Amino acid sequence: MAETEYDAIVLGGGPGGYVCAIRLAQLGVKTLCVEEEEFGGVCLNWGCIPSKALIANAHFVEKSKHIADHGIAVSGVSVDVGKMQTWKNGIIKKLTGGVRGLVKSNGGTTLDGRGKLIANDTVEVTLKDGSKQVVKAKKAIVVATGSATIQVPGFEFDGKKIIGAREAVSLQQIPKRLVVIGGGVIGLELGMVYQSFGSQLTVVEMTNNLLPGIDPDCVKVVEKTLTKRGATVLKGARAEKYENNPDGSVSVIVTVDGKQQKVEADVVLVAVGMKPRGKGIGLEELGVTVDQRGFVPTNEYCETNVKGIFAIGDVSGAPMLAHKASKEGEVAAEVIAGHHAGKDWVTIPGIVFTDPEVATVGITEAQAKEQGLTAKTGKFPFSVLGRAMSIGETEGFVKVVTDTKSGRVLGIHIVGPNASDLISEGALALETVATAEDLALTIHPHPTLGESLMEAAAASIGKAVHMMNR
Ligand SMILES: Cc1cc2nc3c(=O)[nH]c(=O)nc-3n(C[C@H](O)[C@H](O)[C@H](O)COP(=O)(O)OP(=O)(O)OC[C@H]3O[C@@H](n4cnc5c(N)ncnc54)[C@H](O)[C@@H]3O)c2cc1C
Repeated sequence: MAETEYDAIVLGGGPGGYVCAIRLAQLGVKTLCVEEEEFGGVCLNWGCIPSKALIANAHFVEKSKHIADHGIAVSGVSVDVGKMQTWKNGIIKKLTGGVRGLVKSNGGTTLDGRGKLIANDTVEVTLKDGSKQVVKAKKAIVVATGSATIQVPGFEFDGKKIIGAREAVSLQQIPKRLVVIGGGVIGLELGMVYQSFGSQLTVVEMTNNLLPGIDPDCVKVVEKTLTKRGATVLKGARAEKYENNPDGSVSVIVTVDGKQQKVEADVVLVAVGMKPRGKGIGLEELGVTVDQRGFVPTNEYCETNVKGIFAIGDVSGAPMLAHKASKEGEVAAEVIAGHHAGKDWVTIPGIVFTDPEVATVGITEAQAKEQGLTAKTGKFPFSVLGRAMSIGETEGFVKVVTDTKSGRVLGIHIVGPNASDLISEGALALETVATAEDLALTIHPHPTLGESLMEAAAASIGKAVHMMNR
């Protein structure tokens, strides 16, 4: 007989849910983790990891195009899409199997099926064969159901010509002409991948800016690379509908400045964001607040308005990022196990894995102004950094925003090589309430890209050495 009573039930096995289940089990809480599709969630199956595998390959291709000046001749670079997909799928399999194994080896139980709350302490699970199993949670239920792709009216997915990110990471052919609807993080990351593999790229963005919310100076550098590589970027542009052409391609009708134009495409990637999956799982029936968009609001302990029902990850609110989901998973687990824990972080770093990468933590100079703070910015360009020159990646800069009164670092914004790795130092600086002087006085090994953080911090307090102080 299958076990039917647990201390805690986690609904969803993504980076929020599986981390929560592992931590609960480690803390001695008898835990069941229910997953409808595959452990690892969006992140491991078709989000963070698969996209980054393809992005890494795109970097190799780009590198091969620009290395002749260094005296390295590379010829005959080609992309074997089938092999690449097999390689990428191998990574996914290893990771998803690994996390399922970790839940179990820590003492948790996994169940494959779709869960729905039918009482404050009860979940009904529809198993893969259609049968139902009812399980009870004595202490808590954690909703970690994540998010799903938003569809645009008129561009319903057909899985071939009109696709979302899920299909885009598994294409078996490089589209000759790719139209990306949405100039946000996912659209630009995946658009640039296929651009490097040879697609003629058009980005259609409804607002007047790519990567809304990101430091505009950083965005400019990415946009310059995009267009230098031949992409057409249509801003303030609305994708209205598409027409099928006799040769199997489509014409996308786009309105820009009140005028309609046709953009020809073999594949259209719709990347306008993700919507939380808080509806249809029994929450509202139990009095749990679910907002209009489908988010499930929580307090600092990750608990919803109904005692004993928790929500974490994408479903609980922005930013929709894997590391935020996992951290909330740990917090919820510790609270349920009776430990002191809470959402007490200072900052959540964000990364855009475009080429070059953008990574940010904390606030921008403009946001500092809005908050009534007086801030000074120190900016250090990679073009004058020895390490950046020696790896042939001199595009971009590090910008440190410093509070002039306290000297505290308020934000760090990086566009350039390995920005995704460099930003962790920035996150630590903000979490530890470091001053720009702390960063500037910390000896950074030479020659490294990390020296750019030290120099930018020094520049923000007028003490830069390797460039003129302003
Ligand atoms: C293309 C792409 C690239 C991305 N890249 C990054 C990146 O580089 N870095 C980053 O931080 N974030 C990235 N993200 C976002 C990241 O994937 C999400 O923030 C993260 O996966 C959220 O984790 P989660 O556990 O909240 O939800 P999810 O990963 O969505 O997992 C939820 C799980 O719950 C399951 N589920 C849903 N409903 C039920 C139910 N009723 N019963 C049982 N199971 C259910 C789902 O099947 C799913 O497995 C990317 C997203 C996409 C689409």
